[in-house]
Amino acid sequence: MERTYIMVKPDGVQRNVIGEIISRFEKKGFTLVAAKLMVITEAMAERHYEEHTGKPFFEKLVRFITSGPVFAMVWEGPEVIETARLMIGKTNPQEALPGTIRGDLAAQMPNNIIHGSDSTESAEREIAIFFQDSELIDYKKATADWT
Ligand code: UDP
Repeated sequence: MERTYIMVKPDGVQRNVIGEIISRFEKKGFTLVAAKLMVITEAMAERHYEEHTGKPFFEKLVRFITSGPVFAMVWEGPEVIETARLMIGKTNPQEALPGTIRGDLAAQMPNNIIHGSDSTESAEREIAIFFQDSELIDYKKATADWT
């Protein structure tokens, strides 16, 4: 069983799509193990995006991601990391296919409304930036055998 870090970015919160995004992951059959609305600090943002340090868009990205509340979540399920990336779609919303979250709900870079971890290492690292272990809830859904 895998866990991934999913975050509705400030533009997604402002555009009222938190519920729609949660709904897509729920309907797909994944399990929500943690969630909170938070304003992330510059230090957290820099850690989260450390692979992009020094790139031309880095400072703007940190400003954007700290500009308002985000909705941070951890989702669990088999192959959830890769499947969530498919559900999210390409980084540039103009290239993201219809049917994906970015393809359906986002218009233009850099406002692509959602983040999803891209590997098991990133998922573990990112979850640890935004959540304490005690905030991650272990439980099994009664419907687990049907998904
Ligand atoms: N980003 C940007 N300009 C770029 C590339 C990325 O503003 O040229 C932002 C965008 O918000 C993206 C984030 O940086 O979601 C992280 O980039 P990454 O390549 O990791 O894409 P993702 O994993 O979010 O699809």
